[in-house]
Amino acid sequence: MKAIVFHGIGDIRLDEVPEPTLQAPTDAIVKLTASAICGTDLHFIRGSAPDMQPGTILGHEGVGIVEALGSDVRNIKVGDRVLIPSTIACGNCAYCRAGYFAQCDVANPNGKTAGTSFFGGPKTTGPFHGLQAEKARIPFANIGLIKLPDAISDDQAIAMSDIWPTAWFGAEMAEIKDGDTVAVFGCGPVGLFAIVSAKLMGAGRVFAIDGLEDRLARAQALGAECINFEQEDPLETIARLTGDIGVDCAIDAVGIDANHAHHGAHEPAQWQPGDEPSQALQWAVQAVAKAGTVSIIGVYPAGFDSFPIGAAMNKNLRLNMGNCHHRKYIPKLIEMTLAGRVDPAKVITQDEPLTDAISAFKAFDKHQHGWIKVKLEPGADGATTAKPATA
Ligand SMILES: [Zn+2]
Repeated sequence: MKAIVFHGIGDIRLDEVPEPTLQAPTDAIVKLTASAICGTDLHFIRGSAPDMQPGTILGHEGVGIVEALGSDVRNIKVGDRVLIPSTIACGNCAYCRAGYFAQCDVANPNGKTAGTSFFGGPKTTGPFHGLQAEKARIPFANIGLIKLPDAISDDQAIAMSDIWPTAWFGAEMAEIKDGDTVAVFGCGPVGLFAIVSAKLMGAGRVFAIDGLEDRLARAQALGAECINFEQEDPLETIARLTGDIGVDCAIDAVGIDANHAHHGAHEPAQWQPGDEPSQALQWAVQAVAKAGTVSIIGVYPAGFDSFPIGAAMNKNLRLNMGNCHHRKYIPKLIEMTLAGRVDPAKVITQDEPLTDAISAFKAFDKHQHGWIKVKLEPGADGATTAKPATA
């Protein structure tokens, strides 16, 4: 089968690889009908999130049809259409039972304290082969697959594999209350969904901070008040627009690559000990009002140790952060989509066949105008489609 394989920093290829097989009674094999490119994949390709093992299939977003099942998967049948949460969790351990799926004790073969397991990630996360492929093996499929209602399209579902759940989790960690003023740093797909989620949670005002006009235009169409940091000092602007109070909640939806925004995918940009905290995180801490909340969903490597703790401590801030517990949020996001409150498909700007993924990665990495979220179609071998620009 065909798959997008990591060979080294700056080197990913469309390869012919062996098809996955069932390895445990709780496994499933899913034939993918949709996958996607995520900003997190760029962290791996750039090397800003290290320790990718050559030979690993990339991708952690997937929708597909169940092709084979182990004997201990009892809630799904062959032929079911399913959504795959990005993080892998056992469903049995104390953490999973408490909803902390990203902190599962069992899923990571490197041990209980090795960190979150997810598809298509570095050695320390498993590694597990990813979902930018024609087929994938899904461990713990009894908890790791969510059956999709027919009314949910692939375009809607693929946005609920990682990006919307992560954004929802970020908005939840921001502790948004009715009427709160929220700042979302970064208007990529996760930032855009953080705006949507903050409004669903009752936010009064939402500021969107980014440096790219096409992304800010989408943020504004969602009802956010936009600030382009390439044109003005975002902290001065937030202060002025909030009567010098600041925002109640700030969400960092950028992560470590805020420091490397101008590097290309094929130019290694590994962080070093002693690096400055990310620009987005510094702004988040500074923009938030006294006794406000900072929520961090942007990705930072485990060894990264720089944070403006003094500023945060002296403002009595609350800090919440972490990897998303996708499995916990996806069912309720499906319900909100069915109810028509949100159409998550609107974030998908590009449909590309899996076979064109390498050129799609390059365009995505360059922030080519209008490229917000790229869906990959493993079954397709036809022409590229740019979707109409709806917000
Ligand atoms: Zn678990």
